Amino acid sequence: KSGFITIIGRPNVGKSTFMNRVIGQKIAIMSDKAQTTRNKIQGVLTTDDAQLIFIDTPGIHKPKHRLGDFMVNVAEGTLNEVDAVLFMINAKEGYGKGDQYILDRLQKINSPIFLIINKIDLIHPDELFLLIDQYKDKCKFEEIIPISALEGNNVNHLVEVLKSHL
Ligand code: GDP
Ligand code: MG
Repeated sequence: KSGFITIIGRPNVGKSTFMNRVIGQKIAIMSDKAQTTRNKIQGVLTTDDAQLIFIDTPGIHKPKHRLGDFMVNVAEGTLNEVDAVLFMINAKEGYGKGDQYILDRLQKINSPIFLIINKIDLIHPDELFLLIDQYKDKCKFEEIIPISALEGNNVNHLVEVLKSHL
């Protein structure tokens, strides 16, 4: 089994950190400065029964300038070509305008979409339930999976879920 998985979300939600965690190498550039990841970066996870190709994208957000425009196109262009889309949010920030911009775009694609709530190490479990409540009806999510890319919590579970959807 093999599949392509793209990771999208606002800048700084932890897409590159997740990518590095799941592949286990420092391949994507991580930074707390927005827009460090300018192009698509691919990483391959090979297990005994599957091969998952992850694509780290620049964050999707309303472009403010020409380069921003280009980066948004790179991110959006991957959405219809893949087996799964991981829409990642920052648990600490909650729902915001930038999310709606992405969610509007997700309505138009056919690939299965997973809501990944990252940075759960920064919140109380009660806040997690509120977040899930807030997001669950905003899009037809295949599944909602909370993780901490930084600490690795639940990342293996996410990989298993993705494999089961291939
Ligand atoms: P990207 O712009 O979505 O690729 O975000 P990055 O992966 O570059 O991460 C942005 C910042 O968030 C960095 O300072 C990361 O260390 C931090 N970060 C990423 N994941 C987590 C997490 O699960 N928990 C915490 N506390 N911080 C995280
Ligand atoms: Mg990045």
